[in-house]
Amino acid sequence: MNTQIWSEIKQDLRDRIGAESFQNWIEPLEFTGVEEQQAKFRVPTRFFGSWVEKNYGKEICRLFWDKSGMALQLDFDICESRPIQNTPNSSSQLQSPKIITANSYSADRPDLPSNPLDPRYKFENFVTGKSNELAYSAAFRVASGDQVPFNPLFLYSGVGLGKTHLMHAIAWAIQEQDPNKRVLLLSAEQFMYRFVEALRSKSMYGFKEMFRSVDVLLVDDVQFIAGKDSTQDEFFYTFNALVEQNKQVIISADRAPGDIEGMEERIRSRLQWGLMVDIHPTDYELRLGILKSKAEYQRSILPNLYIEEGVLEFLAQRISSNVRVLEGALTRLAAHAEIQKRPIDLDLVHDALADVLRASRQKLTLDIIIKQTAEFYNIRMSDITGKRRMRSVAYPRQVSIYLAKQLTTRSLPDIGRAFGGRDHSTVIHAVKKIDNLMRQDSQVAEEVEALRRRLEA
Ligand code: ADP
Ligand code: MG
Repeated sequence: MNTQIWSEIKQDLRDRIGAESFQNWIEPLEFTGVEEQQAKFRVPTRFFGSWVEKNYGKEICRLFWDKSGMALQLDFDICESRPIQNTPNSSSQLQSPKIITANSYSADRPDLPSNPLDPRYKFENFVTGKSNELAYSAAFRVASGDQVPFNPLFLYSGVGLGKTHLMHAIAWAIQEQDPNKRVLLLSAEQFMYRFVEALRSKSMYGFKEMFRSVDVLLVDDVQFIAGKDSTQDEFFYTFNALVEQNKQVIISADRAPGDIEGMEERIRSRLQWGLMVDIHPTDYELRLGILKSKAEYQRSILPNLYIEEGVLEFLAQRISSNVRVLEGALTRLAAHAEIQKRPIDLDLVHDALADVLRASRQKLTLDIIIKQTAEFYNIRMSDITGKRRMRSVAYPRQVSIYLAKQLTTRSLPDIGRAFGGRDHSTVIHAVKKIDNLMRQDSQVAEEVEALRRRLEA
């Protein structure tokens, strides 16, 4: 009967707090019944229980009252006990308290084999825009203050979009505020390596002690351990132990937890309990912002560096893949300019970056552009190449022509021909029109950018 009430309460909660929070916080609760005026739940960690209590406790109690007339308190039981330390002889823990008592423990804190932090990867060097500002603020939040606002913070994105940068930035900021904090940053691959090494040298105890002694753990590229079962398990234990002690954990991956194949279900779901934020591909504005900031940095080391007007804009337009490639392009330009004593202008760009530019427009034919634009706007290809002038087809046609000009090296007459035998002035007109619209209307800009990304994917 009480179970019935709980499922009704859950339904109400879902409407009230929204599907996402519901999924994160209510669904994982295991209701085990009512005893002595207490609604009892099993939760995975202490932190989880107190979060639910703090954020949804009142509401849950009120709903119990509404539905059953019972005035209850909530009681959370932690279902997964701390993993047992994997010592060769577990009773030795009792015989050697010096290893686990708090005092001797802090006197003898294991060294942290953290990755050296990259001095370039700080918050102040991270340029924000629409696609990454959420990730930036979440990272910033985690790095400031003593609270653990969400645990874990799970950052994900495609390559080269700033995950590692943000992880280093968090580590820097925490370390700068409090040098005594034990911050451990490593890649999932390094985690595995250490784990295997500990198994091999029979030093699992030390391994566990070390990981459980940190205040903040950052694990980069966690998708790496998918499919590696014993490493996953060990990661899971470490993760739980820290979250349970309310120690901040920050994880990155190249995709959302639910999409990581070969990742155990319990790990996937646990990774979703905190805050998940993705970094979207950069848009033109952000790319330009990043380039400007990197150019300024280059100028600080190469005072004679001269970058002609329009070069950064061209790069931001043409290299739309990841920030690493963008950065690499600029570095390469600076090196060429320095060696050849040339200014950085479009000529140099074409000489020095021919391969990058080629790669970024590889395989993109006018036909593909027309086809994908038609799909994007849900019209027929023949609408794009045809003569009809109503806005529902004329606008997608102009967008398509604009992208053809931007993303290929085909001549204006060529493009005109492919678009149903139009002449080159029509092409120029379409390009100008869309260019202006994009400047005036951010929605248009975003839409065109989205289509461009799709084309370049
Ligand atoms: P990921 O870990 O997501 O693959 P990285 O953090 O390694 O990406 O970023 C790749 C490069 O791009 C790094 O040099 C990083 O500093 C730079 N970068 C990425 N995003 C930004 C940004 N928003 N502002 C400044 N630099 C950035
Ligand atoms: Mg990375």
